[in-house]
Amino acid sequence: MKLVFASNNKNKIAEIQQQVGSQFQIVSLEDIGCLVDIPETAETIEGNAILKANYVTENYGLPCFADDTGLEIEALNNEPGVYSARYAGEQKNADDNMNLVLQKLASKTNRKAQFKTIIALNINNEQHLFEGIVKGEMTTKKSGSQGFGYDPIFQPEGFSTTFAEMSMEEKSVISHRGIAVQKLINFLSNLD
Ligand code: IMP
Repeated sequence: MKLVFASNNKNKIAEIQQQVGSQFQIVSLEDIGCLVDIPETAETIEGNAILKANYVTENYGLPCFADDTGLEIEALNNEPGVYSARYAGEQKNADDNMNLVLQKLASKTNRKAQFKTIIALNINNEQHLFEGIVKGEMTTKKSGSQGFGYDPIFQPEGFSTTFAEMSMEEKSVISHRGIAVQKLINFLSNLD
């Protein structure tokens, strides 16, 4: 079965396709000829996921899912949250974002944080939401070169390495998006 994933992020598409296996063929926005960068104007993670999935369903009439993720840092009142991609500015630069987090946390002893993903799925004229959360801590320096975004400064609970020091396979088993995708897969597997 073909399912549109409302994204052009090659890292994420590879992560999700790897987890889904051959049961579903994940098709990107580019694959369906959608070349617009769907504006993420909602004020919540859930709102942005819904907005992206609805855009594809309304404009292309295809079953689609979209995800949105935020990093919520306890000592920063859950910032950067819905603004995670552009925390340090509209250029959406991962290094700048990480530097800003490290700088804001410099004097903080509470380093607790979580990644939260919401997936919105539009299928058979219904909408379903799936949530994935991974708790952990922000490190004091960057470590590792795998992954993307805040991976080099996020250490998941129960592990002594950052996400950026894990392989894609290791990360997707425990990650926020991995958990949400697993819920999505369980749901899809039970569809008639
Ligand atoms: P998105 O909603 O998945 O595009 O995520 C928004 C932002 O959150 C990204 O631009 C990254 O900065 C950050 N982010 C999302 N997922 C991850 C992840 O798995 N690791 C590290 N950072 C992430």
